[in-house]
Amino acid sequence: MSLPDESTVRAALAQFEADLAAAPSLRDAQSVRDKYLGRKNSVVAGWMQLIGSAPADQKKLIGRYANELKQHIEARWDTYQSAAEANLRPAGAVDVTLPGRQPRLGHPHPLTLVRTRMEAVFTRMGFSIVEGPEIEDEWHCFDALNMPAEHPARDMQDTLYLASPVCGESGRPDDRRTMLRTHTSSIQIRYMQTHQPPIRIVAPGRVYRRDDLDLTHTPMFTQMEGLVVGEGISLADLKGTLLAFARDMFSERARVRFRPSFFPYTEPSAEVDLSCWQCDGQGCAMCKQTGWIEIGGSGMVHPSVFEAVGYDPERYTGFAFGIGIERVAILRHQVQDIRLFFENDLRFLEQFPY
Ligand SMILES: [Zn+2]
Repeated sequence: MSLPDESTVRAALAQFEADLAAAPSLRDAQSVRDKYLGRKNSVVAGWMQLIGSAPADQKKLIGRYANELKQHIEARWDTYQSAAEANLRPAGAVDVTLPGRQPRLGHPHPLTLVRTRMEAVFTRMGFSIVEGPEIEDEWHCFDALNMPAEHPARDMQDTLYLASPVCGESGRPDDRRTMLRTHTSSIQIRYMQTHQPPIRIVAPGRVYRRDDLDLTHTPMFTQMEGLVVGEGISLADLKGTLLAFARDMFSERARVRFRPSFFPYTEPSAEVDLSCWQCDGQGCAMCKQTGWIEIGGSGMVHPSVFEAVGYDPERYTGFAFGIGIERVAILRHQVQDIRLFFENDLRFLEQFPY
């Protein structure tokens, strides 16, 4: 065999094209390719073998020509094969050789992330997490919480009542009106009915009110309410618990402030403010220059609530608090519009990586 040179390369390529053109099928064409590129007895392999016996000054050159032929044939083969396979495939067929599509992986909703974090904070303080039904009867949602029949919250304009009543648990006729729960305090009632003190629970969940949709209101939102009942539980325990929550959740330097308020199911009642964790109480845009941020409501459980569930109000005391999960999420992430949490726009949701 004579040593290859540039013309030999050109001749071999021309012969390869001719052989390929003559191949009646893709399988035959593959044999043609192997005849030129195969590991044994192929044209390229033959050239490589020549290197061993060639004069020293020719070895490098032969290697270069063999490589050049190999690269040309490989490139030509790729285009030939793609074209042949495209022709073989009926229109619309799936090309199983294409790389797979990466599925888009989801992650928890931002409200779920905030809720999970809040749950973790309270769990570390020894609270249990309790859930309950979203469809409630009036007794669990109102009566047992010291909100008698004439209470304004029971008005049709504030509460979403259901058209077809289901039977209340007590069987009393006035229990039969059902509604979407307006707060998760109803879970606390259900828990106290079936458990004796000491109690330390948080009840997260969706609640429903007849609110129009705007920047800060939605007819459905999520709450986390806490309840602690035992002997000798005081307002100081409430404040200490909320302070521990604020320091774990927002800032190690957080402070808690109570403002007197009124809720039917607590006495005394207080709105809870936290010192602004962004400006540390100095005043900024987030806290509207006040240094404080309202986070929820709280108070000492009203004796009437204990009586409703059969606890002795002379023996037990307790505190309760409620925190809006959207409110925490809005504050933590500087969200301007509460509706963003419910519109499921991926451009918004994808900003909260897990
Ligand atoms: Zn501030």
